[in-house]
Parts: sequence; C-alpha cells; structure tokens
Amino acid sequence: MNNKDIIVKRLPKDPGPAAWHQILPPAPEYPMLVDDKTVDWAIVGGGFAGLAAARRLAQLCPGESIALLEARRLAEGPGGRNSGFMIDLPHELTSDNYAGARDHDLQQIRLNRAAIDYAREIALELGMGREVFDPCGKMTASASAKGNVHIESYRQHLESLGEPYKIWNARELQQWTGTDFYQQGIFTPGAVMIQPAAFLRLTAQGISSRVQIFENSPVLRIEQGAEHTLHSRHGRLRAKRVILAVNGHIQSFGFFPRQVLHVFTYASMTRRLTAAEVATLGGVPDWGILPADPVGTTVRRVSDCMGSGDRIVIRNHVSLNQDLEARESNLQRAARLQDDSFARRFPMLKGVAMEHRWGGRLCLTMNSVPAFGEVEERIWSACAQNGLGTVKGTLSGMMAAEIATQQQSPLLSDFLAHNPPQKLVPEPFLSLGGNLTMRFKEWQAGADL
Ligand SMILES: Cc1cc2nc3c(=O)[nH]c(=O)nc-3n(C[C@H](O)[C@H](O)[C@H](O)COP(=O)(O)OP(=O)(O)OC[C@H]3O[C@@H](n4cnc5c(N)ncnc54)[C@H](O)[C@@H]3O)c2cc1C
Repeated sequence: MNNKDIIVKRLPKDPGPAAWHQILPPAPEYPMLVDDKTVDWAIVGGGFAGLAAARRLAQLCPGESIALLEARRLAEGPGGRNSGFMIDLPHELTSDNYAGARDHDLQQIRLNRAAIDYAREIALELGMGREVFDPCGKMTASASAKGNVHIESYRQHLESLGEPYKIWNARELQQWTGTDFYQQGIFTPGAVMIQPAAFLRLTAQGISSRVQIFENSPVLRIEQGAEHTLHSRHGRLRAKRVILAVNGHIQSFGFFPRQVLHVFTYASMTRRLTAAEVATLGGVPDWGILPADPVGTTVRRVSDCMGSGDRIVIRNHVSLNQDLEARESNLQRAARLQDDSFARRFPMLKGVAMEHRWGGRLCLTMNSVPAFGEVEERIWSACAQNGLGTVKGTLSGMMAAEIATQQQSPLLSDFLAHNPPQKLVPEPFLSLGGNLTMRFKEWQAGADL
C-alpha cells in the first residue's frame, strides 16, 4: 500500500428494501468479480450515472473493453429506490418553489432534455413499454391555499421561460386520481415517469454484451499507477481509466471532502390493491403527483408492471446524515408522516397496509452543481445529482465518458459551465441547522405534506 492508494472508507447502505426492485420478478444475476482481470475502462457504481457512462463509452470506444463494478445488486441502491420522475424542468429541492434564475434555468432545461433524450433512445432501442418508460409529462399539485401560491409562482416562472403548461382544477384532479384531496394542479408535458428498477435492469441487460458487469463487487481500494488496480473482496480489476459513479460515496473515496450534503429521503409502498380497492379508488391506473411545496409529499399510483400489482407509493421527509447512514429513527418518523399523508389522501383505502418502507440517499451540493471532473490522473467523478439523479445522473455519466475520451461538444461545454461545489459550514452547525430547517419546512408545508 502506498500513499497514492485510495482507501474506500465506507460502503453504501440504505435503509429498508429497494421496493421497485423487490416487486419485480427476480433479476438474472451478474457475476461477482473474482481473480484478476484487465480492461481499458472501469466504472464504479451501477446507478443511472454508471450505466449511462458505460453505454456512452461503448459508443465512443468501440474496440475497448469496459467493466462495471457494483457493490450490491443492480437497482438495490438509490437507483431502485426513487420515485421515478425524470423531470426536464428545473427541480431544485432546496428552492422554495422550483423557480430559479432565467438563464440558469434555460441551461438546465437544455441539459435535462439531452439526458432524457438519451434515456428515451435506450428505452426505444430495448423496446421498453410504458409500464417502464412513460413519456406522460408531470403534474405538480397543491392541497392548500399556500400550495396554490406556489403553483401560481411556478406558473409565472414557466410563462417567463416560454414553457407550455396546463392548469388543472380540483374536479379534473379528482377524476384523474380518484381522491378529492388536491385543489389545483399544473401539468407540464416534457417529463417521463419510469419504473426505476426495471429501467436500470433493462439498460444493464442492453449493454451487457459490450460491458462486463459485476454485482456484489464493492471497490475497497484503488492502487494508482499506469494501470489503476481496483481491489474488491474476491478479485482485482486493472484499468487504465476509471469513472467513479458512486453518488455521495465519492466522499468515501476521499474526494470532495466537506463539499457534499448527504440527504436521505424516504418512501412507503402499499401492498397490492385488490380489484375492489382499485374500483373504490377510481381514477386512472397510473399517475404521479409532485407536491407544490418542494418539501411536501410525492405520490405515485402504479398499475401492474411485470406482475407487481397495482400499488400506491408515498414519499416525503428528508434528513441530513453527514456520516452517510440514515438512522432507524429517521425511518420511523418517515413512516408516521407517510401513514398520515396516505390516510388524508386516500380515506377510501382505510386499512390498506404498507408492504415496503425504505430510505435512500441523495447527494446535493450547496450551490446545486455536480461533483464532477478528473479527481486524480485518469480517474473521473460523475457524482452529486442534486436530487434529480434519474436525469442528472444519466447526464453526468454521459458527460464523464465524453470528457474522459476528450470529446468536444456544445452539450459538454454547457454542462461544464458551472462553479465548483461550495464548502459546507462546519459541524455540528451544518447537521443541526440543516435538520432543524427541514423540520420547520415540513411543518410549514401543512396539508401539502
Ligand atoms: C425515495 C427517493 C425518491 C427519489 N425520487 C427521485 C425522482 O423522482 N427523480 C429523480 O430524478 N431522482 C429521485 N431520487 C434521487 C435518485 O434516486 C438519485 O439521485 C440517483 O439514484 C443518483 O444516481 P447515481 O447513479 O448518481 O447514484 P446511485 O443511484 O446512488 O448509484 C451509485 C451506485 O454506486 C454504488 N457504489 C457506491 N460505493 C461503491 C463502491 N465502493 N463500490 C462499488 N459500488 C459502489 C452504489 O451501490 C450505487 O448503486 C430519489 C431518491 C430517493 C431515495
């Protein structure tokens, strides 16, 4: 071991099951890395960023060998835990109403749409059905007078950006969702809703003839050299170039210290609804609602995907866990909030129990920029997706592959036009302040929570 070694201090752990992965039929397993192997490119992490990087490299370097190492099963990490909204419009969870500065927002829209187009290309190539990749747009809805104010300010912002939208009234929302909980909604057409675990699994399957994928193969140490050596539990991988697509765990590799925020958010999923419950609920089989207040509750109703049954998913609550692990108490608080949010929205489904509860990490930076770029010679980071990882993860994976192969494109220049992540305030002020602020905002969200 020498002082250029990168020792990985912590391996990923998210509370509860990755339910979107859990409700699908068992996935074919990729092998664990054993013995010694040598490739041109190594990618660490099999989420949106890692898979996008692998696919883009396969396109850019047809004759070169690529391997991807994932610490767990694919889609067991945050990639299989999210709510599946691929959003084209600016969506900063830390903002009060999703509205930012105009030029910045127009740039974000261009970048987000390029990533969604890339995902669409994957979906088309692999023949994904609408139960996996549904270009249905997104609805943001309010349940209170305060939420209506957020909708109005969002509407004005979309107007100033020249983006199309449609306002929905309470009756339209009720016919769509079955619940009369929502007062007003604003629909925008450019978003896609995915079954996140199915999307990742199929994407992996699509590239597996070009990329060697290893599951249950955490990287524990990287020995730097003319060829870097990635050490896992039972094998070693030598590669000239490495892309780290490990989300907030970039910090566990020793990079971006005191620059990334480790925020966890939580969700619950009902058991399968019976035919009678589906009929009692009414509405259409698949829909999703983002809260008008960014700290409110996201809801998805999904119909059957590969035998997984009709279900409702509720997401809310965030906690800042700078030691990279959520607490049992975070999960318990989220469960209480989610049961309450479910009961207020779906009184007609009283008695429907939650079958899965889980949490997962987001990696944010104070100034909402990615933790991106060459961090050591021939080692690149494609991390920190600021809460919109289905899109920004895809983008940063694509961009890492492009920069590492010295491509030049208007998209890459646009993507690189950002400041470095700002330094965080020191502990304990950061965690205390961050968690108290989030609690206060949750309380302020009122009925929209
Ligand atoms: C409840 C919830 C709801 C969300 N909803 C949305 C949403 O609707 N839309 C949206 O865009 N985003 C959403 N997100 C965020 C989104 O899931 C993440 O931003 C996204 O998964 C990040 O993608 P990524 O590829 O950068 O990282 P990840 O998906 O976290 O992938 C990184 C991978 O690296 C692996 N890894 C880490 N360390 C190692 C190591 N040492 N060796 C090998 N592998 C390693 C991990 O196991 C993991 O699989 C949500 C998240 C949660 C938890």
